[in-house]
Amino acid sequence: MSHHATRTLQELGYRLTPQRTLVWDALREAGGHLGAEEICARVQTRFPNVNISTVYRTLELLVELGLVRETVLGSDRRYYEVEEEVPHHHLVCDGCGRVLHVHNEDLGGLTAGLLRNQGFRLREMTAFGYCRECAAAGGPHGDRAADGAEGGGDHAHP
Ligand SMILES: [Zn+2]
Ligand SMILES: [Zn+2]
Repeated sequence: MSHHATRTLQELGYRLTPQRTLVWDALREAGGHLGAEEICARVQTRFPNVNISTVYRTLELLVELGLVRETVLGSDRRYYEVEEEVPHHHLVCDGCGRVLHVHNEDLGGLTAGLLRNQGFRLREMTAFGYCRECAAAGGPHGDRAADGAEGGGDHAHP
């Protein structure tokens, strides 16, 4: 375990159990968004006895300590990732499920406008839509949607 997580956990008196270390390592190595089941599967390759409830408990702890960010991307979809210094937002593709990052500077005047007009301080935003590829393949309002291409959206599934 590296990162400031080691220090934070030790300072707070948490034991660095192999499970905790492996959950943290799985997230760092993935460098992206993982569901709890995916994290569990990765941990099990090195530590077969770990189970999903241990993974959930570890994630809960890491989230509580501000080391991991939990993002709810839909009713039954939660993703975990290593917390970054820079705040970011998520764009979720309804077609292929990919998750893209956008940062405050990509939002143009939105954050400033919300603060000015509503007094609202935007922390995190999750937007749903269609990525470039799925839109080009005819996702709702995609490039081909106008000339009668079939909508749907099962094109992206393997
Ligand atoms: Zn897509
Ligand atoms: Zn993210």
